[in-house]
This record gives sequence, C-alpha cells and structure tokens, in this order.
Amino acid sequence: MQAIVFPQAEAMSVERVDDPPCAPDEVIVQVAQCGICGTDVHIYHNEYMSDFPLIPGHEFAGTVVEVGSAVRTIKLGDRVAVDPNLYCGACDFCRNEQANHCSNWQGIGITRGGGFAQFVAAPARACYLLPEGMSDQQASFIEPLACVVHALKRFRPAPGDSVLLFGAGPMGLLLIQALRNNGASRVVVVDKQPDRLALAQRFGAVTVQAGPDAEAALRELSPRGFPSVVDATGVPAVVEQAFAYLRPRGQYLQFGVTPNGATVRVSPYDIFHNDWTIYGSFALCYTFLPAIEMLAHGAVDVSALVSDTLPLAHFADGFHRFEAGKTLKVHVRP
Ligand SMILES: [Zn+2]
Ligand SMILES: [Zn+2]
Repeated sequence: MQAIVFPQAEAMSVERVDDPPCAPDEVIVQVAQCGICGTDVHIYHNEYMSDFPLIPGHEFAGTVVEVGSAVRTIKLGDRVAVDPNLYCGACDFCRNEQANHCSNWQGIGITRGGGFAQFVAAPARACYLLPEGMSDQQASFIEPLACVVHALKRFRPAPGDSVLLFGAGPMGLLLIQALRNNGASRVVVVDKQPDRLALAQRFGAVTVQAGPDAEAALRELSPRGFPSVVDATGVPAVVEQAFAYLRPRGQYLQFGVTPNGATVRVSPYDIFHNDWTIYGSFALCYTFLPAIEMLAHGAVDVSALVSDTLPLAHFADGFHRFEAGKTLKVHVRP
C-alpha cells in the first residue's frame, strides 16, 4: 500500500510499504479521510512520544475491508471511525476510568501505524460505527471533537461565564462551538490571523486581534478578568501571559499542546492568592460517542473548518503549509 512514513525526526516520504496484517481481534480499515493535526507536527519534530519510523495519522475514518477471526462487533463493509487511543483495560488507570493514562497505552498514528496510509489495522473495540449520512469529512473530526468533549468534562465553565480563548485554529473553532453549546454567555477569542477571527465570529465569538492592542481590548471587555481562560495555541509565550486575564476563583485550561519540555513562569503566590484552578486535558477518554452525537445532530459544524483536501502525494505540501499556519484543517484522502 501507499503510506506517508516519517523515517526519522524531520523527514517524510510517500512510500510503498507492506499492508498491515490483521490480528484476530482487529479489523483492517481502508482509510477514506484523515486529518493533519498539530500533534503530527510535534511528532515530526520529535517533540512528542513517538518512535521512528512511523506512519502518522490519528484522525481518520474509513471502511472495514478485513475482519479478524475473533471479531463479532464489526463486519465487512462497515463505515467506522477509529479511536486511536488503545487502552489495555486492565491497569489501575483503566480500571479507574482514566484510560487516557493507561500504563500500557498505545496510539494509532502515534506509537503504531496510522491513517496516512491506504490501510490501517485497528482493534475492533476501538472502532465506532458511523451514523447513516455522516460524511467522511465529518467522521474525520470525531477524534478532535472527542478531545474537546473530554476537555469540557473536566473544565466546566459555569452557565453564563465569559470564556477567554487563545487560538482560533481548527481546535479553537471546535471549542468555540462546544463552549457556546455548554452555556458560556460569551467566548472571546484572540488570534493573530484575521481570516480565523472572521470564522470565529461566524460561530458567535467576540474576536480580538493578537498584538499590541489586545491587552487593552481584553481589559475593556472584562475589566476584572475572565472566570474561564483556555489556551488552544500550545505556544508557551501565549500560555505565560494568559494567566494575567484570569480573575480570582477563575479556572484555566491547558488545551493546546506545547513542545514536550517547554516551561512557563507562573507565580505560585498568584495561584494561591486568587483561588485559581488549573486543568490539563490529555487526548480523550471514552468520549467518541458524545462527539459522534454532536456531529450527527448538527450541534457542531465542521464544514468550514477544512481548507484543503489532498491525495497522499501532496501530503508534504499540505503538512508544511499547515505547520506554517497557512491553512485550517488539512484532510488527506489516501
Ligand atoms: Zn489530533
Ligand atoms: Zn490500561
């Protein structure tokens, strides 16, 4: 089959590789569509938890073309989305509803072959049937939206809260919609790109252009700071200044993925004195089903979030433009 391979850090190629074998409890999915994610960029730069060589891609959906001998829940021809987070189900974390911290965690497209390929092997229990009528494009957003759902099951703005969000990339644009569905009175979004801010406005956000005037604009919008602040940029310098806008008793969510090893300065005295709560949100945790429901019933609209849909042969070009912030979501159809 044809696949994108990262042979080592900061290298990529389109290669012909062996088709993946199908274990008894697995199925083979012919990939219809797979999204490029900021995590793929971190993997490429060896800032994440992957080893090389790797076929990346963890936001995908497709059709089942082979079924392992022990599989009873999925059949040939089923359209499925695959939860790339593979949990053992037996460790203390799994048995305490924290499967995303599984001691034996594996990730499709992270630690084993992923969706930027014609075929992927996936355990049947990681496959979710797509509802009738769901497009490949929508289905490829189930994984990122499931990460948003996991975040909002942890970080819970109170009804009526004004939420300040840094970053209006594809994840930020999903967050805006989910936050507004969950009772935020207002989502104020800061980004440096006017086209992203225009989209954010379309989803009902109040927008502020990043830059020298942003601080005054944010102080005017909420003079005493915001009760909820979210970083969806993963940029350490943005994270560091985000706390300046958090009001006493406020809650902060680190949603963006910074490079592994990056540090920021935050005053412990400020955390103490302001009664702040700081949340992290890693990947997803049994949140595929609510994400599927939100997409199937139109609670979240992803049609405007894809700027490019490309064949595998154009992956490198799409990847580098995505990394440079010149695209929204880039989807690949292998
Ligand atoms: Zn992702
Ligand atoms: Zn486990």
